Amino acid sequence: MLKGRTALVTGSTSGLGLAIAQEMAKAGASVMLNGFGDVEGAKSAVSEFGGKVAYHGADLTKPAEIDAMISAAYDTFGAVDILVNNAGIQHVSPIESFPDEKWDAIISVDLSAAFHTSRRVLPKMRERDFGRIINIASVLGLVGQATKAAYVSAKHGIVGLTKVIALETCTTNVTCNAICPSWALTPLVQAQIELRAKNEGISLAEAQKSVLSDTLPSGRLVNPRHIGELAVFLCSPAAQEIRGAAIPIDGATSAR
Ligand code: NAD
Repeated sequence: MLKGRTALVTGSTSGLGLAIAQEMAKAGASVMLNGFGDVEGAKSAVSEFGGKVAYHGADLTKPAEIDAMISAAYDTFGAVDILVNNAGIQHVSPIESFPDEKWDAIISVDLSAAFHTSRRVLPKMRERDFGRIINIASVLGLVGQATKAAYVSAKHGIVGLTKVIALETCTTNVTCNAICPSWALTPLVQAQIELRAKNEGISLAEAQKSVLSDTLPSGRLVNPRHIGELAVFLCSPAAQEIRGAAIPIDGATSAR
């Protein structure tokens, strides 16, 4: 379905970004990966589906590196048809003890980076009269949660950014939407489970159960592949008039 399309997925060396990149490749897109950590592992996990795979190691807190990443995508593929703003980080702490530098880092990676990438790819998307911008927000872009001041603020912010981009492009074939997942088992969530286990002196299994029962009515983790499949659907012709939506995939968390 995405043959001939090119996708740039930020934060795609791990977790949801990697699953999204795999689904894009499975659907026929060429993919540019980004992020830290096991780059070679991510490249081979995506290239097994056959399409062209490239990588750029931009640190998304640095707009100049974002410029370099977008230029590299144009040089490699000639276009960015699909931009998935997925990279994200987390820090858990009550607001009174929330470190300033953690606030700044989370706002920078989880919110500002999507502004920097989107404004840089939009002119060419307009020129080609096709584009899909998909922001991986969170159910915490729709509801709040104690101890996550920066993350909840950034995710509410990216839902707002999604609406503005959708309005500014609504007479074109460029669309912008947000996906709002609840818990999926990725390194970002594993770290929170480990923290809960440590703080409460409980086992990892008990901590996972306690984390899920706090917030997730279904009690079931979201499958990262399903988030990738939803992203691919948003790139399809059927999704042409889905604009500015913040789509929950959250085991009914936001239904309460
Ligand atoms: P993860 O920790 O597995 O992956 C995060 C990715 O972002 C990695 O590839 C990492 O290298 C990259 N990254 C971090 N800082 C970066 C930077 N400065 N520059 C470039 N890349 C950077 O996390 P995940 O759970 O897969 O989360 C992915 C996205 O999904 C995030 O935006 C997160 O908020 C969102 N999300 C995750 C869940 C979940 O349950 N896992 C739920 C809702 C939303």
